[in-house]
Amino acid sequence: MNRWGEKRYHSMDYDLKELYGEKVYKITLNGGMTCPNRDGKVGHGGCIFCSAAGSGDFAGSATCSITKQLAMGKENLTKKRPVHSYIAYFQAFTNTYAPVEYLRQIYMEAIQDPDVQILSIATRPDCLPDDVLQLLEEINQIKPVWVELGLQTIHPQTATYIRRGYPLEVFEEAVNNLRKRNISVITHTILGLPGENEDMMLETIDYLNKMDIQGIKLQLLHILKGTDLALDYEKQPFWSPTMEEYISLLGKCIASLRPDITIHRLTGDGPKELLIAPLWTSQKRTVLNTLHRYLKEQDIWQGKEYHV
Ligand code: SF4
Repeated sequence: MNRWGEKRYHSMDYDLKELYGEKVYKITLNGGMTCPNRDGKVGHGGCIFCSAAGSGDFAGSATCSITKQLAMGKENLTKKRPVHSYIAYFQAFTNTYAPVEYLRQIYMEAIQDPDVQILSIATRPDCLPDDVLQLLEEINQIKPVWVELGLQTIHPQTATYIRRGYPLEVFEEAVNNLRKRNISVITHTILGLPGENEDMMLETIDYLNKMDIQGIKLQLLHILKGTDLALDYEKQPFWSPTMEEYISLLGKCIASLRPDITIHRLTGDGPKELLIAPLWTSQKRTVLNTLHRYLKEQDIWQGKEYHV
């Protein structure tokens, strides 16, 4: 198997090395926005799993300018290794939830940095009005824009439980609107949500195979301190996979996934000090090494079970 370098799946690192000739590193940024699922526009309290930092626990501080956050991110990364290329990643909260003039200012500030190759924006599909789409289309002519949409699951009962706050059609409309403008779409999914079995998770993968998306994040559910999910877990602990169970589940997801979809994440990156369960996920290197060994032993590759 050498379709994607040494890996048995189509990884983001592989794509970026092909395009830029080297590893491209993410700098997580905080644009100082909130989220309509927290401020009352769509809901209060946010998604049930979302940490106080709006799922942007590693993002820079919103008190610093984007230029400063980029400089600090570069300083941290280059301490350990030589790095020349970056993805400016707006991660915390909902990064299109602001007046378009403000968004223009922060996005432009990010892409003005000559070392920034890609602008990546995490948002909700119900936060992409026409003026924002136009702005993204304009920036996409200057540097590639990725939009990461938090879908998590296709199942309505789970979406209600996690308080996602929008129906599946809204996701479909957002994907269509972005693709009409040639903007790459990355979909964020969560594996191990309460009430979902393996078949349901694979149904989410099958559904995404039919959508015009370019990337996926497969994130294992993290139970983080201070979230309503943690309260539910304390009251009644629900199933959270062991590493072996998760590796086997990932194997099935990877085998089912359309081969052209780039995998941007296969584990989770929860902050250790907030993590209640599953604790083994903090050993990210071990998880990935075990997965790579498992894929080889089981002779699994991305798309092995995908049929058009
Ligand atoms: S949409 Fe994102 S930022 Fe908002 S509550 Fe949900 S996970 Fe958190």
